[in-house]
Amino acid sequence: MPSSNVDFESLSPEELIKRYKEAILIPWSNQKSMQPPFFIKQKGVYVTLPNGQELIDMKSQAFCANLGHAHEGMLKALTKAAPQTQVLASEAVCVKRLELASKLIFLANKEQNKNFSKVFFTLGGAEANENAIKIARAVTGKHKIITRYRSYHGATLATINFSGDYRRIPFDNAITGIVRFPDPYERGSGQKIDTVRLLQEIIEIEGPQTIAAIMLEGITGANGAFIPDNDYWPRIRKLCDKNNILLIDDEVFSGFYRTGKCFAVDRYNVAPDMMSLSKGLTAGYAPLGALLVSNKIAKFFDDETLWCGLTQYAPYLSCAASLAALHFYEEDKIEENVFQRETQIKEEFSMWSRKYDIIAETRCIGLLAAIDFRKSRTNDEPLVPYRANPQEMQPAIFLQNALKKYGISALVRFSTLLLAPPLNITSDELKQALASIEKAVNELNNHTNK
Ligand code: PLP
Repeated sequence: MPSSNVDFESLSPEELIKRYKEAILIPWSNQKSMQPPFFIKQKGVYVTLPNGQELIDMKSQAFCANLGHAHEGMLKALTKAAPQTQVLASEAVCVKRLELASKLIFLANKEQNKNFSKVFFTLGGAEANENAIKIARAVTGKHKIITRYRSYHGATLATINFSGDYRRIPFDNAITGIVRFPDPYERGSGQKIDTVRLLQEIIEIEGPQTIAAIMLEGITGANGAFIPDNDYWPRIRKLCDKNNILLIDDEVFSGFYRTGKCFAVDRYNVAPDMMSLSKGLTAGYAPLGALLVSNKIAKFFDDETLWCGLTQYAPYLSCAASLAALHFYEEDKIEENVFQRETQIKEEFSMWSRKYDIIAETRCIGLLAAIDFRKSRTNDEPLVPYRANPQEMQPAIFLQNALKKYGISALVRFSTLLLAPPLNITSDELKQALASIEKAVNELNNHTNK
């Protein structure tokens, strides 16, 4: 039984991990086999393990530490805001909340003639998406939602159902009216298909009069950084306009410069009707989510009740963290850095593709990059099948261990290695990270070809 009478700070790392597992359910894990990572220090792009080993955090924890760890400006801003903290009901005027909403609307409308006029606040990404669907259903009076198969929109009962990836399977059909279509991912679908043409057909057959919204990640995040053709988003926007369907852009992962621009859709010249934000919104320093809605949607609720709300509606400290993050994205010249580092990764990837037989495909947009592995140059099958069993997972575990050995923390999911470091990673730090990753890829290549 966990005890509350303990000086936890004085416990050894081993004891802490043991007690941690006794007291806390670890998300997305088989509890017995999971060894939760424990860091004795976090600074910049580095996290330090109890044995003193430094790892480069190439997944920004949960893809949210966009400004890295223990960012001095962020810590100072939070310290300064703490004594001014107010406890306020969701309908009460909070000046910090207003300041943040105004800044977000300005940022979002800066490019592509977007027309956002109001913000609905939440505590995270799933809640932002869940409220987007409630609003889409209320505004259109329609029910169905179209999403993609290799997508993730959150872990609440509704959002895990909107999601397409394997994590929704245990909860399938808890929410009705979800229709999915394939991703712009040739390797996944097995052939080059025009997925927007397919979407058009799906809309026709499902009946446009039944479809409230299409929800897409700006750029697919944890499922593998799929980069669509330049006309992908504009064609979907046109389909939405023609069929009176709302377009919801989930920028929870791809927002706040992850893909170079402030929002991923900004690379595609498109104005969505709603946009959901979290993660980079506070650079991970406080819980917060936001849903931006177009002027037309905002106006709908002038005369209709908005049946949405949370007790913690953009808490004061979260607003302060977010305003500070937005400030440091500019002050630290994050956009410029991301575009430079993108070039650095792409140069390295193109060399690796020629060198290593097991690399099937590489993708990189901003500081979001992925490598798909295959069995060999003559066998294009994924090195690890999608939804692999523990036996089939062996190559992924081998790669994960090799990465750790060379000082890298990154996400390996089935056949794909995903890289998403803090956006202020320097050229030298990235060089160091890529050299270490190459060593691990080389080992996997040799191991696979044995
Ligand atoms: N949408 C996307 C694209 C995400 O990547 C995530 C989280 O990983 C979410 C939504 C859910 O956000 P949260 O975990 O804050 O609920």
